[in-house]
Amino acid sequence: MSARGKVPAIGIDLGTTYSCVAVWQHNRVEIIANDQGNRTTPSYVAFNETERLVGDAAKNQAAYNPTNTIFDVKRLIGRRASDKIVQDDMKLWPFKVVAGKGDKPKIVVTYKNEIKEFAAEEISSMVLAKMKGIAETFLGSKVEKAVVTVPAYFSDSQRQSTKDAAMVSGLEVLRMIHEPTAAAIAYALDKRASVDGKMNVLVFDLGGGTFDVSILTIDDAGVIEVKATGGDTHLGGEDFDNRMVNYYVSEIKRKHKVDISKNVKALGRLRVSCERAKRTISTASQTTIDIECLFNGIDFSTKFTRAKFEEVNMELFKKCMATVKTCLQDLNMNKDSIDEVVLVGGSTRIPKIQVLLQEFFNGKVLCQGINPDEAVAYGAGILAAKLSGTGDEAVQTLELIDITPLSLGVGGDKDVMSVLIPRNSPIPTKKEYTFYTIFDNQTYMDLPVYQGERSKCTENYLLSQFWLSDLPPARRGVVEVTVCFTIDANGILHVSAREATSGSNNAIKITNEGGLTKDDIKKMIEDAERYKLEDEAHMKKVMAHEALTDYVYKLRDNIKDYKVRMRLRETALSVKELKEIDQQIEDAIEWLDEHPDAEVVDLEDKEAELNNICRLTKLNLH
Ligand code: AMP
Repeated sequence: MSARGKVPAIGIDLGTTYSCVAVWQHNRVEIIANDQGNRTTPSYVAFNETERLVGDAAKNQAAYNPTNTIFDVKRLIGRRASDKIVQDDMKLWPFKVVAGKGDKPKIVVTYKNEIKEFAAEEISSMVLAKMKGIAETFLGSKVEKAVVTVPAYFSDSQRQSTKDAAMVSGLEVLRMIHEPTAAAIAYALDKRASVDGKMNVLVFDLGGGTFDVSILTIDDAGVIEVKATGGDTHLGGEDFDNRMVNYYVSEIKRKHKVDISKNVKALGRLRVSCERAKRTISTASQTTIDIECLFNGIDFSTKFTRAKFEEVNMELFKKCMATVKTCLQDLNMNKDSIDEVVLVGGSTRIPKIQVLLQEFFNGKVLCQGINPDEAVAYGAGILAAKLSGTGDEAVQTLELIDITPLSLGVGGDKDVMSVLIPRNSPIPTKKEYTFYTIFDNQTYMDLPVYQGERSKCTENYLLSQFWLSDLPPARRGVVEVTVCFTIDANGILHVSAREATSGSNNAIKITNEGGLTKDDIKKMIEDAERYKLEDEAHMKKVMAHEALTDYVYKLRDNIKDYKVRMRLRETALSVKELKEIDQQIEDAIEWLDEHPDAEVVDLEDKEAELNNICRLTKLNLH
């Protein structure tokens, strides 16, 4: 509880590769370190014969258990399995993804020797639950509310699925906020005192899997107003890694005449090495990649230069710069009117990205004052404090005006999209539009909801099929149907339609075809609770096993000392009795080795047997 008796709410940056959690405490934001002491936690979940691992523990064993180690779910969430992006990613992922009901992607793993299928929302909920747990350990109290960040360029279904994931993890989402906007909050709180009037800020957010650009104004009264946003929900550090991996796969094919592209273990090891080398060449001009026995006994060793990295990825870097240009054009804004360029996301450490940006802004010094890995969680933590009423005056008086990144509309006759809410409209917002019947005696009207910028509906993303029936029969053009689109503060769309004379109406909260139903969510919450209990039970077993192992070895050492000390005494145990004790200890060691997954009760029984030795020898090991 805070000083004011209010339960703290947390801010979570749910990243493609790493996640980060923050909380407002003692009048400042605290980025919370995990159980390993790390301030960011890998967005990884792994399954094996005995347990489920989340975060560092999952990432650390990825090379040995590639098919059951899940990462990148942010690239999957809210998308359809048949989506080209998903199909392309699937070729690179070592884990298996299949198309489930309604074309919803399902991740297939072997857990406790059984085949299990998980939705992306479930895996994300496990990462969110981990972040929640990290915060609870730090605060020493339960956490129930959070601000969760999403890329500004996320579609409606990606947002909805992220919100569902939070619900499954046991978190109430106070607000979903765009990642660059969260970074801008962090920047604004820091800079507010020095803002004179209003300033234009461009946030360039390049993370592990997504890229966002936002242009905002920040004023001295603490109002942050997002003006335009652009980006790509599938562009980031992992794409740079993939390009390097593909480059080396062809090099290996050329040099060694072997194709490693189907070997998940070799690919996984190559990817880990490329990512590590990529980080190194952000500060050095070259490094080496050495992988022993990569494939068929081949030791792979190569020089990794910054020049090669830039050459292989230049097309993607240029794509980032093109988005910056479009964003400025959307606002009819000259690049000289940008007062500050703020860098966010681990991939903004890449020197070439910085050079290209700096050149574009005519040599402007880029703002790297806020930690690029933590800025998003930092801002989310501030907003969580504001919304839960635990912030100080500067926090409570911050005002936020955000926008919707993509146009929303209804698909009409001849494949034409009628836009109800154009992109870059401030949210929350509500728009109405009237449609007329196009046939005589038309009693049914199809109103498919699309998101995107193309004028042809079919080239945009179909969010949901929607319709109105029971219209009164009449001549074409007479019956009016009013469609209402509302976007809430989380950027989520709600749609309703009504026909006034017949009273016919229909309302939906958009969930894409593959989205989760209430029942799905209920089941996932139950499963999540079960997995949590299983994890806890497993942890208890592991700890009991470790404790007993320690105890047995300590006992063995002490018995050795005992034999020396007791050699000359009459009360000492006989040689035969001592031999029996030695045998009992050796048996216990063997039993522990053979039963790594022993039940707690069996471990307790074993300990009771060994306690008898202590009684006989009057050793006190507890
Ligand atoms: P984020 O999602 O913001 O945590 O960004 C993670 C991405 O940043 C990953 O793809 C990392 O490989 C990348 N990254 C982190 N540090 C560096 C670095 N020093 N140089 C290049 N990329 C980096």
